[in-house]
Parts: sequence; structure tokens; C-alpha cells
Amino acid sequence: MKILNTLSKQKEEFKPLEPGHVSMYVCGPTVYNFIHIGNARPMVFFDTVRRYFLYKGYEVNYVSNFTDVDDKIIKRALEEGVDSAVISARYIEECRKDMVSLNVMEATVHPKATEEIGGMIDMIETLMDKGYAYRAEDGTVYYRTRKFPYYGKLSHKNLDDLRSGERSILVTGEEQKEDPLDFVLWKPKKEGEPYWESPWCDGRPGWHIECSVMSRRYLGEQIDIHGGGEDLIFPHHENEIAQSEAVSGKEFARYWMHNAFLNIDNHKMSKSDGNFFTVRDILAKYEGRVLRLFLLSAHYRSPLNFSDPLMEAAKNSLERIINCAENLTYRAEHTQTEGYAEGEQQIADGADKYRAQFEKAMDDDFNTADALAAVYELVRYINTNTSETSSRALLADLKKRLTTLTDVLGLDLTAANAAGDAEEDARVEELIAQRQAARKAKDFAEADRIRDELTAMGIVLEDTREGVKWKRA
Ligand code: AMP
Ligand code: ZN
Repeated sequence: MKILNTLSKQKEEFKPLEPGHVSMYVCGPTVYNFIHIGNARPMVFFDTVRRYFLYKGYEVNYVSNFTDVDDKIIKRALEEGVDSAVISARYIEECRKDMVSLNVMEATVHPKATEEIGGMIDMIETLMDKGYAYRAEDGTVYYRTRKFPYYGKLSHKNLDDLRSGERSILVTGEEQKEDPLDFVLWKPKKEGEPYWESPWCDGRPGWHIECSVMSRRYLGEQIDIHGGGEDLIFPHHENEIAQSEAVSGKEFARYWMHNAFLNIDNHKMSKSDGNFFTVRDILAKYEGRVLRLFLLSAHYRSPLNFSDPLMEAAKNSLERIINCAENLTYRAEHTQTEGYAEGEQQIADGADKYRAQFEKAMDDDFNTADALAAVYELVRYINTNTSETSSRALLADLKKRLTTLTDVLGLDLTAANAAGDAEEDARVEELIAQRQAARKAKDFAEADRIRDELTAMGIVLEDTREGVKWKRA
């Protein structure tokens, strides 16, 4: 497996720190609003990386944080006249719902910054003891960037250039820094803001320290993969390296992976620019799995432009895959032949080519675009090589091959997991089963009543050759 490592800018062979294990840390969202589909890109992509490692037989420890103390959260809380914990709790909850809709697996640990303050204070103290940090007069603690000899190694920035360029960032209060590049580890409280006690002043942490602390706590001093969007390379990840490596004296993360932006009209989708769609906006129109497929339709290192035609294309592509899987199920239910018939073993073996193609794409720096192409080719192969006279053995074999690959991409072919929540989906499935039972028992009044109940829930039923299908109206 090869990974394009931001550190070396080279494709490197993946060698885990511990054979058979992968540790991954992916920077999560700041929770002050619904997440937008740009934020969903790293979530979906790194979830797919995780799934591919699992497919390859690795055990994966996956940590992703929620940044729940931040200026934007505090601002929102002030606007609403509530505690900032109310805002962050609300949007963590909403983000988790979006993750379910996008079929993003629950992280091994989902730490929250506000629950890790003690660890942050400890790490800052260590940095102070080692001379990597200093306290300014007003109680702010800064990282002494110049002391860390490798600063700039991730972003490939020359420190002197940076220094001259960064002078413009000097803002009020920052005169007290020894160097313009020094960054905040701890800052004093302001009126009306959440704060914690510390050896330096009552205050709160800077943003970068939380990831160094959580990564170390849940994954150890060294990790295999650190991921996030490319806007995090500098300064966030550069600063994480400076903090973590100054403390441990070891290389923090072996492989750094960064996804390119999701754009609209070739501009980065971002909340601050106001050009964004929330995941929730999109889910009102498309199923989560359509959005997921769309996000995987380009290589993660390439920018991806959001557009309605591309979403429609993703929807059609997904439908083709789903139809193929449903046809296989339908045929398996109706065929007269059990075991492999003459020539069918070759058909099954012939499908292996697409698995190999899929793996080759994923082994080459997780090329999900090419991996999807392999899935489409497999679909075409299945459609041309099966019929209602194929044996149940062949149909089952091909279905397994197809779903194994779509599962790696996190595309669930089974449930109509549209905008609604899982609970409602389960209720719909249950009602459909009851309606089927009523029809079987020739209790048509009851069957109609159930159909009306489903209609009232906004569910449209379609009786097809392949059985009852449903969708939200
Ligand atoms: P934030 O909430 O801004 O800290 O972002 C959470 C994650 O989403 C980070 O990994 C960002 O790099 C990523 N991200 C934000 N905007 C975009 C975008 N337009 N395209 C891709 N990734 C993004
Ligand atoms: Zn981070």
C-alpha cells in the first residue's frame, strides 16, 4: 500500500508501527453549527481509509475529536443567550446524526476538548519545563517556535520567509510574543467566556494543543496516520508536530494525509464565506449514500467541485449498483438451480479481476475514483453474465463480491437510508412486513390501513417484481 505523505511529498510504502495495527487521528469539526459538506469530505474519506484497512485485516484505532471550546462557539452562545456547552452539545449531537446518515463509523474514541483540559495543562507544563514555552505578562502561554528545529517540515515552509510574511499577523496583545511565529498554548479568560484554572491564569487552551494531547492519550506518543483537510497543514498540524515532538522526542505521526477542498464555483466551501450547503440541506434532497458516493468520486488529493449535475450523476451511479444487487437477490429467489452450473465457475473466477482492480486503486494512495470505476465494471460484468436461469450459488457469489467492495466504500446497498433517522427506517420496514403478512392472509382491509399509515408518514410504496420498495415522498 502506498500513501502520499505530506511530510515527504512522496508516495511511500505503508509500514505500520506495530504489525497488523493502524492508529489514526483525524481532526474533527468545531461544533458551533451544522457541518457542511466540505467538512463531510474528510469524515467520509478517512472513514473509507479505515474501512479499507479493516478489509485488509488490520485492527484500526481511530480517534477523531470534537473541538467544543472556541471563539465561534462562544459567539454563538452569546447570540442565543445560552451557555457555550449548550451550543457544543447540540451540534455534536447533530454532527453524529449526519455521520450516521453518511454511514461513517463511530470512532474508537471521540474525545471532546473540554474533557481533556487537565491533559492539556500537563502537556503545556512539560513544554515550559523543557524551555519550549513561556508565559507572557498577561498570563498567555506561547510556544517558542524558534526553539523547535524542525518547524516548517510539514508545510515545507522556510522559517525566515514565514517570519517576514507573518509579521502582518501582529495584532493587539501580540507584541508580548518573543517571535511573531510563536503560537498560543493557553490564553487568559475574557468576561463571559468559559474558563479553567491553570498555573498561569484562569483561561482556556489554544486550539492546537488539544489534538497533541488527545492523540497521545488515546493512541500513544507515535501514531501511524494523521489526517485532515489541507487547510490544516499550516499552522494547525505544523504546531501539533512542534508540541508533540518537543514533548516525546519522537516522530509524532508517520504518514500525514490531507484531503483537498470541496469547492463551489472553484472556491473553497466555508462557513465564514457563506458559500456552503450543510449536510442536512443535501439530505433533504438526496440519500446520505448518494452524497457519500459523490464525495468519493474524486481522488482525495484533488479538489472536488459541488454541482447539481454531479449529484445527479452520483445518484444514477448508485442506482445502477443497487439495481444490480437487487436483481441478484430477485434472481436468487426465483432460480431453479442450486449449485454451480456448467461454465459458471469461470464466470465467478472472471469477476476476481475487478476485486484486483479495486485493490490496486485503493493500494495506490486510496484512489477511490478508480476503485469506484472497478465497481461499475463489476456491475456491468454481473449484468451481462447472469440471468434468471443462473444458479443460486453463482448469484450469491457475485453478490458477495459486489457488496464486499461497496462495504469498503461504506455504500450500503440494502437500506433506503434517506433523510430520516434509523429508528423511522426500522418502523417502516416493520410496517411493510406487517402489510405483506396481512396480504398473505388475504386481510386486504388491514393491508390498506397499513399502506395509509405509511402514506401519512410520507412513505411511498412501490410493488415491484423484486418485492416492495419504499422511499420518502
Ligand atoms: P473545521 O470545523 O473548520 O475545523 O473543519 C473540520 C474539517 O473539515 C477539517 O479537517 C477541515 O480541513 C475540513 N474542511 C473544512 N472545509 C472544507 C472544504 N471546503 N473541503 C474539504 N475539507 C474541508
Ligand atoms: Zn487537530
